[in-house]
Amino acid sequence: MRYSLIADAYKEIEATARRLEMTELLVKLLKQTPKDLIDKVVYMTQGKLCPDFFGIEIGIAEKLAVRAVAKATGYSEKTIKENVTTIGDLGETTEIFLQKKTQKTFFHEPLTVQMVYSSLDKMARATGPGSIELKTSILAGLLTNASPEEGKYVIRIVTGNLRLGIADMTVLDALAVAFGGGKDARKYLERAYNISSDLGKVAKTVVVQGMEAVGEFQISPGEPIRPMQAERLSSPVEILEKLGGKCIAEFKYDGERVQAHKNGDQITLFSRRLENITDQYPDSCELIENCVRVESAIVEAECVAVDPDTGEMKPFQELMHRRRKHGIAEAMEEIPVSLFMFDALYVDGEDLTLEPYPIRRRNLKKIIEQGCHVKMADYIVTDDPDELEWFFEKAVESGCEGLVCKSMNKDSVYQAGARGWLWIKYKRDYKSEMADTVDLVVVGAFHGRGKRARTYGALLLAAYDAGKDVFQTVTKCGTGFTDEDLKKIPKLMKEHKIPHRHSRVRSNIEADVWFEPKVVIEVIGAEITLSPIHVCAMGVIKRGSGLAIRFPRFTGNYRLDKSAEDATSTNEIAEMYKSRLKKAAG
Ligand code: AMP
Repeated sequence: MRYSLIADAYKEIEATARRLEMTELLVKLLKQTPKDLIDKVVYMTQGKLCPDFFGIEIGIAEKLAVRAVAKATGYSEKTIKENVTTIGDLGETTEIFLQKKTQKTFFHEPLTVQMVYSSLDKMARATGPGSIELKTSILAGLLTNASPEEGKYVIRIVTGNLRLGIADMTVLDALAVAFGGGKDARKYLERAYNISSDLGKVAKTVVVQGMEAVGEFQISPGEPIRPMQAERLSSPVEILEKLGGKCIAEFKYDGERVQAHKNGDQITLFSRRLENITDQYPDSCELIENCVRVESAIVEAECVAVDPDTGEMKPFQELMHRRRKHGIAEAMEEIPVSLFMFDALYVDGEDLTLEPYPIRRRNLKKIIEQGCHVKMADYIVTDDPDELEWFFEKAVESGCEGLVCKSMNKDSVYQAGARGWLWIKYKRDYKSEMADTVDLVVVGAFHGRGKRARTYGALLLAAYDAGKDVFQTVTKCGTGFTDEDLKKIPKLMKEHKIPHRHSRVRSNIEADVWFEPKVVIEVIGAEITLSPIHVCAMGVIKRGSGLAIRFPRFTGNYRLDKSAEDATSTNEIAEMYKSRLKKAAG
C-alpha cells in the first residue's frame, strides 16, 4: 500500500471539521487498506504505533527532526529552524522544503505504508548510545523518498503533532460502516474495544475474522479494560431515587485509580488513562502479588498516599510526587501508599464485567486478603438519605473526597469505557463557598498584556459532553496562575497548538490560540450561571442558554492523570447548577 493514499486521506480529513464527513473519509481509507495492514493504519491515524499501554512512543525531539529535514533536503538546519519560526509548524516547513528539493531531483522510490511503519517502529525502539544518530538517519531516509505532502505527515507523526482530530469513537463508527454491515455494528465493536483498549486489534479482528469474532472478544489479563466512570448528583434523596431506593455507598478516596492485572506472578498496573504505571509503584505490585489469592485477576483500587508516621490519608497532590521515572525507591519511602479495593472485573478466566456490582464485590472480598495497606473500600448499604449524609460526613472527616454511590440492581454491570448513572459521586460543598472544584480541558488561550505580554492572559476551558463526544466551553480563566505557572503553561501547551478550532471543540468565542483538547486543569469558581456565550450544556436548563462558571481560579493542580474525556462532564455542571438553585430556594 502506497503511503500517499494515507497522506491524501489525512489532507482531506484535516480540511473538515464535520464528524460525519471525517467518518466517511476514514471509511474510504480503511476500505483501501489491505487486511494485514489495517491495525497499523488505525494506529498511525491516531499518531501511534500501537495502543498506549504498550508504552512505545514514536516521539522524537523537534531538534532532531529539523536535523533530519536538513539532511534530506540539503538545506542547513539554521534555514529550516528560521522557517519553522515564521511558518509556525515543522510539518508545513518540511513540505515546502521537500517541494524545493523535488524540483531538483527526478527519481525517488515511492514510500509504502510498511516502509513508514517499520521505520517509525525502529526509531521508537532505538535506545542507548548511537540511537540519536540512528533515529536521525532513518528519518532522513524516509524523507528522501517522500513526496512533499507525505513528508509533512511523516514529520508530524514522529514529532507527536499529527492531530487529525479523529476520536476513538469515530474510528469505531468507520469500522462499523466499512466492515460491520452498518452503524448498528458499532456497539459490538465498542464492547470489544472497551474490554481490550486496542483499536488496532478490534479493526484486525473485524476485517480478518468478521463480526462474529468481534462478538466473542475476551478479556485478557495484561490488556487494560477501559474504566467505568461515575455521574454526579448533590443530594442524597436524588441519589437514592436514581439508584432505585437503595445503594452501596463507598468512600471516595482521593488518590489515583489503579487497574491491577495479575497473571501468575506477573503484575501489571494501569492508570485511569490506561498508561502502564507498573514501574512507578513497585510497592503496589508487591501488595497485589501478596493480597490477591488467585492465579489470575483484574481488580480496581484507589491508590492513596499515606502518612508514614500517622497512617493518615494524604491528599492527591502528595501522591503526584510518585509520578516520576527516577528516584522511585526514595519516593516509595517518603510517600508510602495504601490500596483501597473497589471492583473485581475478572477472576481466574471468568469475565465478571457483566455481573451486577454486589456479585463483583463479593468476589473481590473473597479473593483478597486484607492487611495494613490493602483494604476493601469502606462502605454501607443504605436506603436512608440521612444515613447517606452521615456517611458522607464521615468520609470527608477521614480525608476522602466524598462518596461513590453504586447501584445494587440486577443491571448494575461494569460499564467499561462509559460514564453512567450506575455509579454516582457525591462530593458537595465542604471546603469553600464554591460547590466543588471542576476539572476542565484547555481548548484555547488569549494573548496576555502588560506583565503577561509574553505569555497567555487567560485560558479558554471546556467541559466534556460524553453523549456528543465534544468539548463545550464553560469559562475563561485568568486567575490563580503563579509566575511559574505562567512560564510553564505556554511550554506545556506548545505541542497541542493547532491553527484553528479543534473539530471536537464547541465554542462561540474566538480564541487567539487554539489547542487540541488534551490538557486538564483543576479550577474552582464562585458560581455557575446561565450564559448567552458559553455553550456548555446548551439548552439543558433553558432554551438558547449555556452554562458558565463565574470567577474561576486555577487551583494549581494540573490533572495530568486525566485524559480530556475524563474532565468534568457537561451533565455534572448542569447538576451542580441545579443543586445550587435548589439550595438557594431552600
Ligand atoms: P472523578 O475523578 O471525580 O470523576 O471520580 C471518579 C474517581 O473516583 C474514580 O475514577 C476513582 O479513581 C475514584 N474513586 C475513589 N474511591 C472510589 C470508589 N470507592 N469507587 C469507585 N471509584 C472511586
